[in-house]
Amino acid sequence: MDEVEIGELLGERRRELAGELARLTERPADQAGTVSFGKRIGDGTTEAVERINTTATARSLSATLTEVDRALDKLADGSYGVCDGCGNAIPRDRLDAAPWATRCVTCSAKRG
Ligand SMILES: [Zn+2]
Repeated sequence: MDEVEIGELLGERRRELAGELARLTERPADQAGTVSFGKRIGDGTTEAVERINTTATARSLSATLTEVDRALDKLADGSYGVCDGCGNAIPRDRLDAAPWATRCVTCSAKRG
């Protein structure tokens, strides 16, 4: 993969993530009213659990989006493929698996 291809791939991924995030976080204004009205309590509980899951998913999507943005920045400033944590080269196979990776496996694990 050359840098142009990586840039396209990251741009594509960014659009996907942003779209997904927008879909997850947009809520009808009157949702609270429609959820409780005419439904059993069990339905409301499921709804609440789904909302928590949605929030967790949105948070994870948002974190990945930040990484993709950072990878695009690195691509632009010529530091793409260099770990943000230790400055060593990020292994090729890691970048192949996750082109938006901005840290090597060791530094990524350190951050949690
Ligand atoms: Zn590192």
